[in-house]
Amino acid sequence: MTDALRAKMGLDLLLMGTLMLLCSGLQASNAADWEYWGKYGPKNWPGVCTTGHKQSPIDIVTEDAERTDLGALKFHRYDFAFSSTLVNTGHSVQIILDGVPIHLSGGSLPSVYILEQMHFHWSAEHTVDGQRDPLELHLVHYDQQYANFSNAAQYENGIVVVAVLFELSNYDNEDLMSILQATKMVSHWVGKNAVPLRSKLIPFLLLPKDHTTYYHYQGSLTTPGCQESVMWFVMTEKLTISEVQMDVFRHLEGSNGTLKFNYRPTQELGDRKVYHRLEGYTGSTSVLSSNIIYTILNVLLVRFLSSSGIL
Ligand SMILES: [Zn+2]
Repeated sequence: MTDALRAKMGLDLLLMGTLMLLCSGLQASNAADWEYWGKYGPKNWPGVCTTGHKQSPIDIVTEDAERTDLGALKFHRYDFAFSSTLVNTGHSVQIILDGVPIHLSGGSLPSVYILEQMHFHWSAEHTVDGQRDPLELHLVHYDQQYANFSNAAQYENGIVVVAVLFELSNYDNEDLMSILQATKMVSHWVGKNAVPLRSKLIPFLLLPKDHTTYYHYQGSLTTPGCQESVMWFVMTEKLTISEVQMDVFRHLEGSNGTLKFNYRPTQELGDRKVYHRLEGYTGSTSVLSSNIIYTILNVLLVRFLSSSGIL
């Protein structure tokens, strides 16, 4: 082997090594190294996060939402009490329920969806008429025809997220107590350590009382890889949380310092539609107009009867 050949081989190996390092670096930034601010912030999230046209969250413009009756969502076993664990993922706190799977259907969903996990964003990700609430809960479900969440996220309508907005109140929300207590425990433990919740969790208590009315649109996961496979249901009614309770979330240690906030900015709606399902809404004006006619007839009848001396 000549010196020149040896030198060339050395150079090739060096180039290969550099390339491999670069690739692993790129891979790391694609998978784990994303943040809510700075160099790895939302503007630099990779792939479809930047190039997609059906991204989430969005600003819900109530006046533009099309009133349609898509049917009520059916929450199966959400009224059961579950043992559950909470973990600090470095990007949020996530709750996983133990035991029998709980299901979501109805609401014109094409399939039955299994609850995978719940997590919080502070401040809220979806805004309503430009207004941002302090907290948003995501109940993440995947289509039961797929093996798991990651698999389902590759397919259109594979994922359903029910979002619940929390507005500020002077009073503590008692239903959040055990979640907040566990959040305090994991606030310095990013990653593996899951803690059990002190009391059993009834998922229904984390939904507004009226869970028949919601906004619906087609969107994406709000974290990388931002797959556009999500049917969103943002509940119209809100729950409440106090400022003191909010501080527990805002003190969570993330993978890169204190996670003061973990929401993605709102994305362009584009040519998508937002639908609004109101309880008892029939999708036509016939009920309303027949009610008006009935009222007018009643008034006329009363006038007639009183003028004729019967009343
Ligand atoms: Zn989320």
